[in-house]
Amino acid sequence: MNDLNDEWFARAQRVIPGGVDSPVRSFSSVGGTPVTVDHGKGAYLYDVNGHRYVDMIQSYGAVILGHADPGITSALYDAISKGTTFGTPTRGEVLLAEEICARVPGCEQVRFVSSGTEAAMSAIRLARGATGRDRVIKFAGCYHGHSDGLLAKSGSGVAVMGLSGSEAGSEAGSEAGSEAGSEAGSEAGYLPGSLPGSAGVPVASVSDTIICPYNQVPSHDVLDEKVACVIVEPVAANMGVVLPAPGFLQGLRNACDAAGALLIFDEVITGFRVAYSNASTMCGVIPDIYCFGKVIGGGLPLAAFGGKAGLLKQLAPVGPVYQAGTLSGNPLATAAGLSVLNRLDENAFTTLASKVESFAAGLQSVLSDAGLEAAVQRYGTLCSVFFGTSNTVSDYDTASASAATGIYSKFFHHMLDRGVMLPPGPYEALFVGLAHSDADLDYVLEQARTAASETAMRI
Ligand SMILES: *Cc1c(COP(=O)(O)O)cnc(C)c1O
Repeated sequence: MNDLNDEWFARAQRVIPGGVDSPVRSFSSVGGTPVTVDHGKGAYLYDVNGHRYVDMIQSYGAVILGHADPGITSALYDAISKGTTFGTPTRGEVLLAEEICARVPGCEQVRFVSSGTEAAMSAIRLARGATGRDRVIKFAGCYHGHSDGLLAKSGSGVAVMGLSGSEAGSEAGSEAGSEAGSEAGSEAGYLPGSLPGSAGVPVASVSDTIICPYNQVPSHDVLDEKVACVIVEPVAANMGVVLPAPGFLQGLRNACDAAGALLIFDEVITGFRVAYSNASTMCGVIPDIYCFGKVIGGGLPLAAFGGKAGLLKQLAPVGPVYQAGTLSGNPLATAAGLSVLNRLDENAFTTLASKVESFAAGLQSVLSDAGLEAAVQRYGTLCSVFFGTSNTVSDYDTASASAATGIYSKFFHHMLDRGVMLPPGPYEALFVGLAHSDADLDYVLEQARTAASETAMRI
């Protein structure tokens, strides 16, 4: 029998590098041939062979109401019938900006862009412009998109303190090769054994990027008066879900204030996903600049960065920091975004958080019952599983030690065979959305029980 997935992926590989437009989709970290999707509905994906999967990827968090949600679909039909892009102000962007600012403390203005990469890149330009400083501190294992300066060394065994630019640059140059080509730019960024950084990133582009270990507040000799900003995922969700240690975010806030540096919370995953507003609100710490993406586009290309009006006025056309985009604030994307936020009231998050709480607990016990050493970590509505450890994973070193066991890949394939589509990489969060019914999640746990014992037999 012809496998249409194989046929389509073979065609894809002829005309698209590696057959994919974003590396993690290639299955390079789990092995095998990716599933080519025909359509999605609610919690399910249907591939070109007509097989159905319970989808735990949900476009890496860009979808929260499920696929082809009727409300979003009809908002899009309305918007599309009026034209797709104008290059002029529109009402939709005003309404969406008002909604975001109303929900997020310390966010008085936002500027829309088309991807999380652009949001983080522009946030950093704004911070540098506003402070007149160049240095940026980021944390190992946090992903902020694929712009040059943020693809500096972001993991491997040893987190680099101090001015690691030239080291990062030379590693990228010497080791990037085909491995970086297939791994460094993934949606999550970090796959087993990869040294982040990428061929094609000049040493100069990362020479002002300082990498610190997650969950440790940099001391004043690192976070000093030369630092423009600290960028962090307030809850890390791109090395699996790693929670901020008590005091970490407040410590960053205080250290930034002491040095006159700006604090950027990259909430591209966590914004409007973990709560009615975002993770920072849950943690009680307010950054100078927020980055949002994924959920706020309702499945269309849309992201944003924002903060206090006094800071945002540094942006062109009011101020000297240039930033622009032909499709920024696109009317289809703002219509979808507004439609999704209108549905995400406090009740929606209460419902989702309790679904995820029992799912995460169920997954933990199914894995433990099978004799697999595993830690399921959860923050609000986000969770992920780390194999090969039952300790709390708190930084990139411990996350990559888990990934290096290779157990995730085995579990992944046993789940795929049983009709459950997990993200094809060990550093991804599991995305439970409002379309997953209790029965769907029970089904996933039932399959996980079998998949876990199959996995346990092979390690
Ligand atoms: C996904 C992600 C990005 C990049 O967003 P893209 O839309 O893929 O460019 C940036 N930061 C975080 C925290 C993300 O999860």
